Amino acid sequence: MLAELSPALIAEVKLAAKLLKTKQRICLLTGAGISAESGIPTFRDKQTGLWENYTAEELATPEAFARDPKLSWSWYQWRRQSVADKKPNPAHHALAQWQYDSQTSAQQLTLITQNVDDLHEQSGSTVTHLHGNLWRNRCNQCGVPHQNHARDSYDNDNTVQFEDTLITCSHCDGYIRPDIVWFGEALPMKEWQIAEDAANNCEVFISIGTSSIVYPAAGLAQLAKQNGAHVIEINPNPTRNTIVDITLAEKAGIILPLLVQEMTQL
Ligand code: NAD
Ligand code: ZN
Repeated sequence: MLAELSPALIAEVKLAAKLLKTKQRICLLTGAGISAESGIPTFRDKQTGLWENYTAEELATPEAFARDPKLSWSWYQWRRQSVADKKPNPAHHALAQWQYDSQTSAQQLTLITQNVDDLHEQSGSTVTHLHGNLWRNRCNQCGVPHQNHARDSYDNDNTVQFEDTLITCSHCDGYIRPDIVWFGEALPMKEWQIAEDAANNCEVFISIGTSSIVYPAAGLAQLAKQNGAHVIEINPNPTRNTIVDITLAEKAGIILPLLVQEMTQL
């Protein structure tokens, strides 16, 4: 694997590993890019099939749900169908390993994700979800969690279709919606507090697979930097993030296993 990477990139990975080895408080923020190698498209990828004529903004906003709840709900049921059989990739596994190792080292890792999939959990990580969870539902009107976990209706043999009929709340008759933060909605308070505290207090902030466009999550790196943290970015493409100290311009599934391995060898 090393042979495929340029000497300059390998040197950057070693530099990052060396830096991380001397630091204790690490905050990691992941975005859609970390799940790309598991086969889940990022938000910048064009939608395919049934949904190619819709933009995410037409489906994933409170206004979209108010205008046409069935359309928005059907899209999420379709997304659940397409994500249900996806598995963590080497990037998720490397982070889980690092988090596990940190239990017996002096390091304190806080893993924050913008993703609504559960691939971090599947790989054994403890993670804070800033933008909600694809597998949970709640009432759009009164906010009560809907008791059925959406994943339970999927039996892993890829044959079950997620029902796209709307469900109503047993308390107030409002429509049930995915427990996801849509464009224009506030982030969950407890989760945001965890992220903000970790960014404020970390010595190194690592941004992984995120375009750093969507705020407030994109502001976490700046917060960390203002408080003296080093910022590392893992992304094969350039981003809007202008405060990066070390750029590791390759896929997360290649860089993270290497980085974790380098750290254990130091
Ligand atoms: P994004 O799609 O904006 O960016 C993905 C990033 O991952 C890109 O910078 C890309 O270069 C990078 N990438 C691709 N493959 C990679 C790989 N193998 N390894 C590492 N990086 C890789 O996703 P985002 O930054 O997570 O978006 C932020 C948030 O915006 C989302 O979590 C979501 O909540 C919200 N958003 C939602 C929708 C929606 O609901 N449909 C649409 C747009 C944004
Ligand atoms: Zn209700």
